[in-house]
Amino acid sequence: MEVLRQNIIQNATGEHLESSYTTLVGVFKGLAEPMGENLKLNVFERLWASWYIYLNNDTLATGLLFFLTHELTYFGRCLPWIIIDHIPFFQRWKIQATKVPSDREQWECFKSVIKSHLMVEALPIWLFHPLCAQLGISVDVPFPSAKVMASQIVLFFICEDFWHYWAHRLFHYGWFYKHIHKQHHRYAAPFGLAAEYAHPVEVMSLGFGTVGFPMLYALTVVKAPSLNLPSLHLFTLSLWVVLRLFQAVDSHSGYDFPWSLNHFLPLWAGASHHDEHHHYFIGNYASSFRYLDAILNTECGTASKNKREARMKQNVEKAHQKYVN
Ligand SMILES: [Zn+2]
Ligand SMILES: [Zn+2]
Repeated sequence: MEVLRQNIIQNATGEHLESSYTTLVGVFKGLAEPMGENLKLNVFERLWASWYIYLNNDTLATGLLFFLTHELTYFGRCLPWIIIDHIPFFQRWKIQATKVPSDREQWECFKSVIKSHLMVEALPIWLFHPLCAQLGISVDVPFPSAKVMASQIVLFFICEDFWHYWAHRLFHYGWFYKHIHKQHHRYAAPFGLAAEYAHPVEVMSLGFGTVGFPMLYALTVVKAPSLNLPSLHLFTLSLWVVLRLFQAVDSHSGYDFPWSLNHFLPLWAGASHHDEHHHYFIGNYASSFRYLDAILNTECGTASKNKREARMKQNVEKAHQKYVN
């Protein structure tokens, strides 16, 4: 990033220096020209580089970027669900049709979530960039290839889901449920804003699944160069956080549309999977996928109960046939 910073200063002279280095738009425009060695940046790379060059303080730029990414994505993604709750047309796809959250419930939830965000995030934000630097997580442009970014994000989805399954299952045991997880289960019929309505200990431990695995990946890249793993870029990490927030908010939305992803991708959990968890209080512990609950026999809901009973009946019939023959 420092090379680009110097490049912009060198390219701009006199009065242009003023406008090209001291405003965000100026830096963005300054990056339109190919930089040294014919480096031509795409619009996302220019936006990214402008942010870092303009703020001129990488710790502040990364901390602020993560805070804003979290807040804008989370509350921005909740907004359409709040609007849909007020439109009767969409109620035909509401999973627990009689339980539309009141404005008061949503407001109380909003206040609690924002308070918890500030409490949990205030410190890590300032430590995040130095940690990324230690782990070799790059903030430079250009970005890695789309193939590298996509494969790392798929890996993070699988790891997070695995971590979430076991941590969430643990949170349903006696002491953990009573003192930590009970708060998240205040709403038997969830809504988007309730996704991060949880005890700070739960926010941090489940948050490890989102941020901790990318950190472990980056550490592996540094410690085991013989594996030849592609290094992690902070843009990939930000994109992963955005997608994970979409998944968390959507799974709490309370709506299952005919066009929801789980109808096209059967492994994808979707809102119905997590809605049943809130409804029955046990089972369906995974976050993004259905396979862990299916393999480990922890699915809940009428469909899974019927499936389980049919399987048991089949086993009994098989045993009986074996006995008769
Ligand atoms: Zn739970
Ligand atoms: Zn939940």
